[in-house]
Amino acid sequence: MSRRQTIPPAKKFTIDNFNTKFPTNAACLEWHKEKKWPDGIAPCVKCKKDRKHHKVSGRPAWSCGVCGSMISPMAGTIFEKSSTSLRTWFYVAFLMASTRCGISAKQVQRETGVTYKTAWRMMRQIRKLMAESVKLHKGPIEMDEGFFGGSDLNKPQHLRGKAKTTVLGTVERNGRVVARVIPDKSEAAIVPVVREIVWPRTTIHTDLQPAYEGLRYMGMGLKHKTVNKSQGHKSGHVHTNSVEGFWSLVKRGIAGVYHQVGLDYLQSYLDEYTFRYNRRNIMRPMFSLLIERTASRVPLLAPATQERLSR
Ligand SMILES: [Zn+2]
Repeated sequence: MSRRQTIPPAKKFTIDNFNTKFPTNAACLEWHKEKKWPDGIAPCVKCKKDRKHHKVSGRPAWSCGVCGSMISPMAGTIFEKSSTSLRTWFYVAFLMASTRCGISAKQVQRETGVTYKTAWRMMRQIRKLMAESVKLHKGPIEMDEGFFGGSDLNKPQHLRGKAKTTVLGTVERNGRVVARVIPDKSEAAIVPVVREIVWPRTTIHTDLQPAYEGLRYMGMGLKHKTVNKSQGHKSGHVHTNSVEGFWSLVKRGIAGVYHQVGLDYLQSYLDEYTFRYNRRNIMRPMFSLLIERTASRVPLLAPATQERLSR
C-alpha cells in the first residue's frame, strides 16, 4: 500500500460520525440552513433586507420575522426540486467522498433504495460541486496527456486509440492536479488551458511531444524541461511520474467502478477524482468539505469552469 492510501485518523468521517451528526432529515435541513444562513439571518425577498427568519412548522421553509415571507434554504442548490430526502442526498455525498476510487450508481442504488436513474442523477449533481478552478504554481509542474474512452482491448491494433478522448493532466509535484478534456493533443488545444490553469514563470516538465514546444513562447515566462520517456522515466529531477500516477488512479477507478464512462461525462468524472486527489493531504474530512459546498450560494468558479458545467 502506498503512503497516499493511508488516511490519518483525523481525516476520517465515519458512518457513526455521519449518523450522529445527521440522524434525521430535519437535522440535515437545520444544518444546511445554518450553513447558508447562520442564526437564521437571511435576505428577505420582500423586505429586501437581512432579517431573522423562523422555521415554518411542517414545511422545509423559514419565514421572515417582520413580514412573514417564506424562503427555502434549498432554493438555488442541487437539492432544489428534488423529491429525494435531504438525508439521502447527504448520504450519497458521504459515500462519494469516502471512497478513494469512486462508487458506482448501482452501489448507491443498493445502499439508499433510490432508483438507479435517481442515483445516477444525484451523483451527477454532486460531481458539479466537486468541480473547481485551480491555478497551479508550485513548480515544477508536470504536464502529460491521457487518453480515455472505450476499451481498446478487443480492437485490432490499427484501430486502437481512434475514438479516444484526450485529457490534459497538469500536476504540481506533491500538490494539486487539474485534468481537462481537450479536443486533441495539438498545441492549439493545449495553450488556452495552460493560460487558464498555470501561473506565469512556472517550470513545466513534459515528454518530447511537439505540442509542448510552444510553452516557452507563450509570453508567460514559462520554463520548459523535457524528459525522453523512451529512455526511462526520469532524467534527473525532470519526470512526469506524478501525472502518470494520477492517470493510473483514474483509469483504475473508471475500469473498476464505472466500467465505461460516456465521453460526454468524462469531465465530470475527472472533476470527482481531482476533488479527492487535491484533498488527499488535508486533515479536514473530505465529506465536510463537500457537504459545505452544497450550501454555498455563489460557486467559487472561474467563468470558464462555470461555462463548462452549464454545457
Ligand atoms: Zn420580510
